[in-house]
Amino acid sequence: MIAEAREISKVYSLGSTTVTALHPTSFSIASGEFLAILGPSGSGKSTLMNIIGLLDRPSVGQFYLNGVNCGGLSDDQAAQTRNRFVGFVFQAYHLLPRQTVLKNVELPLMYAGVTGSERKRRAIAALTAVKLSHRIDHLPSQLSGGEQQRTAIARAIVTDPPLILADEPTGALDTTTGWEILQLLMALNQAGRTIVMVTHDVQIAQQARRIISIRDGRIISDQPVTPRQAET
Ligand code: ADP
Ligand code: ADP
Repeated sequence: MIAEAREISKVYSLGSTTVTALHPTSFSIASGEFLAILGPSGSGKSTLMNIIGLLDRPSVGQFYLNGVNCGGLSDDQAAQTRNRFVGFVFQAYHLLPRQTVLKNVELPLMYAGVTGSERKRRAIAALTAVKLSHRIDHLPSQLSGGEQQRTAIARAIVTDPPLILADEPTGALDTTTGWEILQLLMALNQAGRTIVMVTHDVQIAQQARRIISIRDGRIISDQPVTPRQAET
């Protein structure tokens, strides 16, 4: 089990009022799953993803990542656990604009204390996995949106985390390029990585193997995706 939530909820206090972003809910994510969290804007997707990725904590309940009860961790320990177990992919790529593709991908390894030549070797391996090894000396601004997202995916996998969290990874891309990014996520999943993808798009979500649908802070369904029909 890569992640397990036990009766977690999230309440934000705004002066005298409170907003329940997530009503009490329990779920687990097995190793090797490709899960989509689907819901409209404001439904609580980011709240849920931030808890799964240890960027935030539930107000109530327990969250376990790789068997570790994260409620007992200090902020520093949570950050260490996050760096070790989770790779993030965002809608807007979040690459450093003045750094080359190679340096961007090396960055998590720098934080992990990996030395120069090993860093480069692993960054190139990750860039090869996303078919971008011919672009290592480019700046992000010299790449297409799809290539920038592939760079971000290389950065997410370079430390070999068991879990990839992708927040609207196709949201800034045209349909064809978005499809290519989804294919890449599927390939990473087939290679054994657990993927959790947040999206508001039903068609995108249906490329996953399981969909948790969320509405107004409540999980309204949690179902396997029916196998895709053969092309006619
Ligand atoms: P989504 O990612 O699906 O758009 P969010 O998880 O961002 O939804 O938000 C769920 C609800 O929680 C919304 O009503 C939002 O306004 C509220 N919310 C999110 N973050 C905060 C915050 N930091 N303070 C107060 N309310 C918040
Ligand atoms: P390691 O240092 O464990 O030998 P590599 O140097 O082969 O790993 O790869 C560096 C990073 O790129 C690792 O996170 C690895 O998982 C990833 N990677 C390399 N090749 C592939 C591939 N074909 N598919 C997916 N990920 C890959």
